[in-house]
Amino acid sequence: MFGEALRRRRGEKTLASCLGKVGVKMASWSAARCLFLLCCFGLCVSSSSRAPAQVRLVSERPGERPASLDRDWPAVVTHTHNWRFREGETTGSFSAAGEQLVRWCWDLGIRAVGVGSAWNPANEANFERFEGPDRDLYYSGQFDQKSVMDVAGVKATLTELNAQSRGSTLFYLDNETPKNRMGHMWWFGYLYDYPAWHDYSQDQPIKYYENDPSVEINALTGEPHTRRNLFEIVAIQRRAGAIGVFAHPTRWWVSNGKFTSNIAAMSGLFLIADGSLDGMAVMGDRVYNKPYQDLWFSFLDTGGKVPGFAETDFFLNQVMHHNELDTFRNYPHIGNRPLTARAIRDAARSGEVFFSNGGFLNVSVDGVPMGSVVRTGQSKRHRLRIEVYPAPNSRLGRIQIIGKHGTVLAVKDNFPGGVLEYEIPGHDEPDYVVVRAFGSGDDPDHDPDQVRYLAVSNPVYLWPPGFHREPARTLCRLRVALGSRWIGGSLEFQTADGELLRREPIHAGIISLSEPADSRIVLSKKGLQSRMFYIAMENADVEKDIWYLSSGEFRKDYPGLPQSVVPPQAFRLESLREALNRFEYEIR
Ligand SMILES: [Zn+2]
Repeated sequence: MFGEALRRRRGEKTLASCLGKVGVKMASWSAARCLFLLCCFGLCVSSSSRAPAQVRLVSERPGERPASLDRDWPAVVTHTHNWRFREGETTGSFSAAGEQLVRWCWDLGIRAVGVGSAWNPANEANFERFEGPDRDLYYSGQFDQKSVMDVAGVKATLTELNAQSRGSTLFYLDNETPKNRMGHMWWFGYLYDYPAWHDYSQDQPIKYYENDPSVEINALTGEPHTRRNLFEIVAIQRRAGAIGVFAHPTRWWVSNGKFTSNIAAMSGLFLIADGSLDGMAVMGDRVYNKPYQDLWFSFLDTGGKVPGFAETDFFLNQVMHHNELDTFRNYPHIGNRPLTARAIRDAARSGEVFFSNGGFLNVSVDGVPMGSVVRTGQSKRHRLRIEVYPAPNSRLGRIQIIGKHGTVLAVKDNFPGGVLEYEIPGHDEPDYVVVRAFGSGDDPDHDPDQVRYLAVSNPVYLWPPGFHREPARTLCRLRVALGSRWIGGSLEFQTADGELLRREPIHAGIISLSEPADSRIVLSKKGLQSRMFYIAMENADVEKDIWYLSSGEFRKDYPGLPQSVVPPQAFRLESLREALNRFEYEIR
């Protein structure tokens, strides 16, 4: 909030000093720049003042919230930790915590919970051991990692919760993983492929690529600690049908002078490489998290699909400290399908989900649901339908219709709930429509952090005919040095999940090929241990942009930034797009 005000003030100051200069030194370069700025400013003003006139309210039908909506749009709580404690807390009884959780879900009308690790006390004990004294052993290569998964125990924990709730709430498996300096993720349809902490590195300086300045030596091997790359993890999860959601995308803090990043530093890279994201958390930490939403809009501005979700980051053994206001819920459209983890995942994948702390909000354009595409054009007029109801025991405040760049195109105040219909103009550019419904008394413009109630739709995408964001490709130029130990071996390009794209013999000289930006290279030769790496992660320009976020370097360019604010520009999407065009690498 403070950062916004600061930037606005700066903008005003620049403009004022420009106006002063224009009168005095018309011929100077700075005056020309000022004129340019003035023109831009004029365009901005005229387009934002013209826009509301173009979006036209066609009809409003007030009404009560139909009971059937609760069946068709179940409340789903995600990104949780079932058995976790802050430093110094006593643990208490595991079974009592489970009973409490089931009761709490019943009281709040929570119909499904993605249950994250640590899942139970045995799992927590393994966390303690293998993230603690036996960490080097676990990652030494001399330890059977999967032997400490306890699949049966984890399954039993979920079975017990589901039995206690007798079908009133579905408890399904989730896990917040990976958790490292480049970001955290949680999942719909999570595949339990390794122990919960397998891809954690917390705040340790793990080496993720060849020239990574972060190094922590494993005392048992004498080699730097490494972890799986996110491209590999996502590919494995996707192959199993899961979709990954980038958690708390702009969260960071400084404590005792030390910068800690929870920023989703890899999210922009995935967006550019894939042309879309599986998902990102847009509601979390507080109900109206403006930095999350600003980042979301800047991602949507690329024209790619980016489903937004709510997350809680709750310790489920402490849910009694939470109420309906701070429990941010996803409402996937399940309709008359049985409520299963698979149905939730499918709805999440389709993007037909809204999120709120109790309010209802369903949006369609020309009958096309959230998450889907309407073909548009300059001459078209579209019909936007908004069905909205306040959270129980509350009233609606401002309703906003939002388009490209997060611009508010129209507002509606004093609507009690029901159905609104608008006419919205078509465009020749890819666009989207998102709707936000605040509570009465909430002031999103002047007091965003104090907003109490909010419901947010997922976008309906408005694309010109034929538009589709393609995954990026990279022109790879691999130089094989004369004395390379790999000469005589072979080089494989593989998809992110290991399908062969092509195989080349390794001679001295240049190998030049265009490949998908998320692909990987495997070098192999008889007698040598083969080496695999993802081309995006060995790309020095990509590394620079990710480091800029993960190391906190961006803060130098935005002095006075409050914690957990990252300006969308700091995600450097255009720079990443440029960087992914080309990959130069020397095979030594
Ligand atoms: Zn996290």
